[in-house]
Amino acid sequence: MIVEPKVREFICTTAHPTGCYENVKRQIAYVKDKGTIEGPKRVLVIGASTGYGLASRITAAFACQASTIGVMFEKPSNGKRTATPGWYNTVAFEKEAEKNGLYAKSINGDAFSLEVKEKVIEMIKEDLGQVDMVIYSLAAPRRTTADGTVWASSLKTTGEAFTEKSLDLRNNTIVTKTVEPAKDGELEGTIKVMGGEDWMDWMDTLHGAGVLSENAVTVAYSYIGPKLTYPIYYDGTIGQAKRHLTKTAEKINEKYSDIKAYISVNKALVTQASAAIPIVPLYFAILYKVMKVQGTHEGCIEQISRLFHEKLFVEKPVTDEQGRIRMDDWELSDEVQDKVMECWKNVTTENVAELSDIDGYWQDFYQMFGFHLDGVDYAKDVDLEVAIPSLE
Ligand code: NAD
Repeated sequence: MIVEPKVREFICTTAHPTGCYENVKRQIAYVKDKGTIEGPKRVLVIGASTGYGLASRITAAFACQASTIGVMFEKPSNGKRTATPGWYNTVAFEKEAEKNGLYAKSINGDAFSLEVKEKVIEMIKEDLGQVDMVIYSLAAPRRTTADGTVWASSLKTTGEAFTEKSLDLRNNTIVTKTVEPAKDGELEGTIKVMGGEDWMDWMDTLHGAGVLSENAVTVAYSYIGPKLTYPIYYDGTIGQAKRHLTKTAEKINEKYSDIKAYISVNKALVTQASAAIPIVPLYFAILYKVMKVQGTHEGCIEQISRLFHEKLFVEKPVTDEQGRIRMDDWELSDEVQDKVMECWKNVTTENVAELSDIDGYWQDFYQMFGFHLDGVDYAKDVDLEVAIPSLE
């Protein structure tokens, strides 16, 4: 079948298998080019199929030569509909790992469930014995807890309604958007889904099963962003969940002397999760422009490669006074933010193409689904139903 992108606002409902493969190959080439790291040899990545988690799995495998187990929640193709991009990315990752003699297995299921946690433990016991590192990179809209309650994550303020400029992704115009305050239960739901409770569950369960090596490292990803987006992000429902995640790192460190837990605060990047946040895409497009001009722009793979090489697997991990690793150091520098704020004030529908990197935003967006990659023949028939080798 010939696959074309079908975009509806911030989501693309198709994915291109060859394009996703090319995307993974490019990330692997980047990591290989950066050289090897004395790092973990057995790594579990929770949320391993797209965005930051995929970049983490690639870096662990191709820079540290690590065996990896990846957990994700993706849909295979049904023959008519394409699979989700994370499915095709995982096909590519496993095939490339195999070519390089690296162990890679994946589990496709709900990471919040006990069943998936038990499957992972069984796999670790059988194949690896233990793991040295656990990366927690979930971005999910919902979580069902053990008692059957379904919790939903929302992107709302926790105070007043917040009105700001926004990019209408349907036609690239500048509009005004209002984000409403959270209603009853929405803050609690967001903390349940995107806070640290499930990360703690994972660490308790893995530790209890004896599958963590002595001095295992665990990292979860967070975001803070500029003051401009505080009302909807850092001080909003999602920010409260991220604060809970940060507290969880402290809790893990207090509870287990043989585990070292870190929060890595990463840069704002276009991923399936972040494209859905209102107001933020315009900030991204302006940020991309400013950072590209300054030569400091990074994507997920550049961020995670720098995390491993320069901040985490060094003699003493580089953290801020609160113990967090700051991969948003370049994004939040005065040099970048002053320029971003100036553009933000002046941006209109007429000058958005000039003041922001709207093309770069859309390029990243399409590439996430395997489209708009040079060297891929999109006129060629592709097999939609490619299988993930370890799930066959
Ligand atoms: P993403 O949407 O690209 O990736 C989410 C991953 O989670 C995928 O592998 C998906 O399959 C998996 N997943 C979702 N629900 C699942 C479930 N129930 N069970 C198993 N797997 C599930 O998102 P991302 O942007 O890479 O986000 C990853 C983390 O990084 C999040 O915590 C996010 O807040 C954080 N972060 C993102 C940004 C950004 O700008 N994108 C910046 C800083 C931090």
